[in-house]
Amino acid sequence: MRKPIIAGNWKLHKTVKESIDLVTLLKRQVSEFGQAEIIICPVYTALASVAEVLLGSEIQLGAQDLYWEEKGAFTGQVSAPLVKEAGASFVIIGHSERRQFFHDTDETVNKKIKAALKWDLTPIVCVGELLAEREANKTMQVVEKQVKGAFEGLSREDLQKLTVAYEPVWAIGTGKVATPEQAQEMHAFIRKQIYKLFGSDTAEGLRILYGGSVKPDNIVGLMQKPDIDGALVGGASLEAQAFTDIIRGAVLARTVPSSAKGR
Ligand code: PEP
Repeated sequence: MRKPIIAGNWKLHKTVKESIDLVTLLKRQVSEFGQAEIIICPVYTALASVAEVLLGSEIQLGAQDLYWEEKGAFTGQVSAPLVKEAGASFVIIGHSERRQFFHDTDETVNKKIKAALKWDLTPIVCVGELLAEREANKTMQVVEKQVKGAFEGLSREDLQKLTVAYEPVWAIGTGKVATPEQAQEMHAFIRKQIYKLFGSDTAEGLRILYGGSVKPDNIVGLMQKPDIDGALVGGASLEAQAFTDIIRGAVLARTVPSSAKGR
């Protein structure tokens, strides 16, 4: 049984003070949800302060990106050891906004994953197709290429340390969520690619999160699908009540007997 993960991507939102306020609230509200792993990913400048607030809490901390070199003449970049020093244990890699606006490619995603693993950070590796690619029936082709590129040169042991997020780009921040059936189809497809590349144990153990307009009212349907192991949440993670309701929904969905779950 794969333990669900609910991760909040705060993107470029919230000052240090606002981040501390939100995490203080969350810490109080989510203490009852031991059956899910909860991760929040604030902006770099809030990481260290939020890490302090999270001491002794079940909530884990992630960064939203990193640079693969450890140090040097790379103005504006933040490396894996620095992210780690700030208190993060997870890092989002290859988010579609990084691919779209900051030129992340499958090759740089691969370098970032390797740097994260070297520093014992758990990568949350994002893949997903554009609307035009889905409409052109290229979804699987695109995602297969992203998966192969991201995991080039990695071992089974490496794969066991990371998480994948399937995030159809057309569903991110648009309010247009993939149906549970659309998401399940792609999660099963990704798991099959991992099976082909790394074998059945790795594929079965891999947690694959769905991301794209997840809200309290759609999480249960998504989480009832057998290959959906959690969610990467953007907008709805910025508000304590909505994020808590999503975690509650995810946990609830997992308590439904598996015979009642549709594929
Ligand atoms: C995201 O940022 O990864 C995301 C899925 O955003 P939203 O939930 O707002 O669509």
